[in-house]
Amino acid sequence: MPFSSLGLSPALQRAVSAKAYSAPTPIQVAAIPAALKGQDVLGSAQTGSGKTAAFALPLLQQLESVPPESPRRVRALVLVPTRELSAQVGEEIRKLAEHLPRSVKVSIVFGGVSINPQMMRLRGGTDIVVATPGRLLDLVDHNALALGGVATLVLDEADRLFDLGFAEELQRILSLLPEKRQNLFFSATFPPAVQALAQTLLRDPVRVEVLPEPQGQPDIVQQAIAVDAGRRTQLLRHLIQQNHWSRVLVFVATKHAAEMVADKLRKARIYAEPFHGELSQGKRTQVLADFKASRLKVVIATDVAARGLDIAQLPVVVNYDLPRSAVDYIHRIGRTGRAGERGIAVSFVSADTEAHFRLIEKRQSLDLPLERIEGFEPLETVAVLAPSMDGAAGEPSTGGIKGKRPSKKDKLRAAAARGQ
Ligand code: AMP
Repeated sequence: MPFSSLGLSPALQRAVSAKAYSAPTPIQVAAIPAALKGQDVLGSAQTGSGKTAAFALPLLQQLESVPPESPRRVRALVLVPTRELSAQVGEEIRKLAEHLPRSVKVSIVFGGVSINPQMMRLRGGTDIVVATPGRLLDLVDHNALALGGVATLVLDEADRLFDLGFAEELQRILSLLPEKRQNLFFSATFPPAVQALAQTLLRDPVRVEVLPEPQGQPDIVQQAIAVDAGRRTQLLRHLIQQNHWSRVLVFVATKHAAEMVADKLRKARIYAEPFHGELSQGKRTQVLADFKASRLKVVIATDVAARGLDIAQLPVVVNYDLPRSAVDYIHRIGRTGRAGERGIAVSFVSADTEAHFRLIEKRQSLDLPLERIEGFEPLETVAVLAPSMDGAAGEPSTGGIKGKRPSKKDKLRAAAARGQ
């Protein structure tokens, strides 16, 4: 189906041609006509499916039909969970907006940077705001913008925005919006609890669930490698060098681990940088820009990088630490295999995380063989599940047999001895 049959204006058809999009993606085919009619949309589609244009094009078309006011009023609010996504989505909307006959001001706001320049840029009003929730509310509190004229609310990565961490902010933002508005909610995943919450906000929504098509499905080869926890950095080094991986995104569980693994790789002359929520925004932007421009080979990130980031040609994602949930697993591996390219997603599985990995596999209906790499065969075995000293059952324990399973301290010592 061509873009011309979706009901888009000539200007927006020029915009998609300029982006060299030859045909709409399935989510665009399903969501654009409904959104253009003013209906609410609940869209569930994999990352990399073209979700952004699926909501951006209808937003822009609606703006095309209303003359600019002076000062401009916020007509559309796009909420996103991370700063990077805010910049990425905002830039994509700006690119598409360049082709409209009237000027459209798209403001990108996120926390972690000084609020003053953002307030300055909002002077004279704005048409579209792409924002993370906390900073948006700060700007409202500073009277830098008002949300009473919002005609369309977009939630991108809606499942994350419905998370407890954002609940209070989201409630406050909703209370500032006109009750009568269009809602476009998009997410890669919509667990039942989130669906229920979304239903309370949506009016008679068109549900758009794009089942991955063979040619549209990300082409990701998933692998699980058994390795002792203390040898993961060495294995990572080995894999990067052996396979000549040009660009790798490695996920770890904590900021500390991100710093530590990056440090060790750098010592081994592999140029790696950490990426986590406690870095300054300037540093985060720099790391991403270097990674995207191939000036940086390896990024060691916490889950802050797992959502929405569109890094073209990212061939490999490694789960150094396993994700907490099956949903996080999808988000992480979705960073690779985007826009029709092939990707590899490798998960390191050690004795104490194997049960957790099997759970993720089960939720994902996967059945991956636990591969072994020569020279890195694991020596540790799963602990016997037995009541611990204080009686709490289910905790991995040595079962009172000294030496049966190394303690954390033992592992650290062993790692230190191996120069980890
Ligand atoms: P998204 O799912 O919005 O993050 O988009 C993923 C990538 O697909 C982005 O790089 C978009 O520029 C690209 N894209 C979006 N729509 C199309 C399309 N119709 N044809 C080809 N690429 C597209």
